[in-house]
Amino acid sequence: MFNGQLPKHISPRKLAYQSAELQGVLPVASCPRLKDMLADDRAEISVNLRFEVDEQRRPLVTGELEATLSMVCQRCLDVAEIQFVACVNMAVVRNDEQARNLPANLDPLFVEDEAVELLPLLEEEVILNMPAFAYHENDTCHSNQETYSTLPEGGADELDVEDVQRPNPFSVLAGLKTGK
Ligand SMILES: [Zn+2]
Repeated sequence: MFNGQLPKHISPRKLAYQSAELQGVLPVASCPRLKDMLADDRAEISVNLRFEVDEQRRPLVTGELEATLSMVCQRCLDVAEIQFVACVNMAVVRNDEQARNLPANLDPLFVEDEAVELLPLLEEEVILNMPAFAYHENDTCHSNQETYSTLPEGGADELDVEDVQRPNPFSVLAGLKTGK
């Protein structure tokens, strides 16, 4: 139906009744808020959306957003490439009451008028689903491997700063000896 260039506006209800599909690429460079959260704006988000009406006559928007995002590694402050995938599971609603009645697996997409701007909608989905902090895999991180190689999966949060900074007792002894 659409391929490549994404439309600026979509009418999700109309597309749902047409069982439409929408595929295309969204350059990060055109997403002002997302751009500010990344190390550079070269990435492209691959967008794959399906529109359908479920048994309750609810217009649904489902699909996937995928990208390789450049984020700053919080261990070494170098750029880390993060594989990003988000599943979209939304139902088009007109008001809070409809939103409250949705099952837990569906997020409300508030659409009053027929047309919504697509870019801010997709940008918001990426921002909501991207990790708050990025880290390289342990073996590719450029930080001091000796300090960090024994870290658990949780990352730098688990780091006991005291342990790292406490001087080795033997080097203190050695210093005392030579100080005689
Ligand atoms: Zn790193």
